[in-house]
Amino acid sequence: MEDYMLITHDLTKKYKDTTAADRVNLHIKKGSIYGLIGKNGAGKTTIMKMIAGLARPTSGSFEYTGFNGSVNEAYSRIGALIEAPALEPNLTAYDNIRIKCLAYGIGDRKYINDLLELVGIPETGKKKAGRLSLGQKQRLGIALALVGDPDVLILDEPINGLDPQGIAEVREMLMRLNDEKGITILISSHILEELAKIATDYAIIDHGRIIEESTSKELKEKCRDKIVIKTPNVAACIPVIDRMGLKDYGVVSDKVLHVFEGLSDISALNMELAKEGIPIESIGTESSDLEEYFLKITGSIPGERRGNKGQ
Ligand code: ATP
Repeated sequence: MEDYMLITHDLTKKYKDTTAADRVNLHIKKGSIYGLIGKNGAGKTTIMKMIAGLARPTSGSFEYTGFNGSVNEAYSRIGALIEAPALEPNLTAYDNIRIKCLAYGIGDRKYINDLLELVGIPETGKKKAGRLSLGQKQRLGIALALVGDPDVLILDEPINGLDPQGIAEVREMLMRLNDEKGITILISSHILEELAKIATDYAIIDHGRIIEESTSKELKEKCRDKIVIKTPNVAACIPVIDRMGLKDYGVVSDKVLHVFEGLSDISALNMELAKEGIPIESIGTESSDLEEYFLKITGSIPGERRGNKGQ
């Protein structure tokens, strides 16, 4: 049985004529980096707001299983950065953190300086938060979310607007927090390639609905180059594939088989299957990178281009 931090049950949020989150079921494991991926307007912020206690669900529920289901305890152990960071523009980065620390009963200068160091803005000095660059503001927002050493970090598009170096730095910081402090991180983005570098688990969301929830390993498997065989008799194909010496394959369902090797000689495989009289509905190679896969399953690439260059 998996050790979960948070599970949602048909979590739904309706605004006047928009269902921003539609029966959402997330299963977030303790210690995971869970990527919520979806286009703009897909519903990521809405979901995060609900589980951070900033918006009330229209229906459905969520439980912080990691805190014995106690929402109040969970809320005191969550750090969130949702939408723009709530900064005091006329105060320095240090003072912005200091104010939040006071609310947590933390009066330690070192604690604040360590946080500034951790998020990579130790040098902002006297500069007022309102005059920081977008990337620096974003980091300050993450530092604020880290006050009180949360067990769960909820970050809504934290890499939005950052330059490539900033993205890499935030990514490394999050991996360190996860690795060294065991913080469970829920992070949203509209760029799958970026999340793919850190997330251990994913939910792909579109029009408020979770289209797919998978582990990083499962997702990468789906994006590997492969031969896809569609047949009413998958079982009959196995001995043929074995006989051909192909070892890297997987049965997807009783009608679909993926073979990850021998892609250059698909006709030989096709012929062997035909010799055995196995009915083949289609056989072809399929490949997609993560971004293409994401666009495909959210319907942004028309069906005909779905990667199947079948024979
Ligand atoms: P983005 O990255 O653009 O913020 P998102 O995936 O976070 O996108 P949400 O902000 O959750 O998406 O919005 C989901 C849908 O709900 C959108 O159609 C949005 O217009 C709508 N919506 C969000 N908040 C409200 C609100 N307060 N009132 C009415 N509609 C809203």
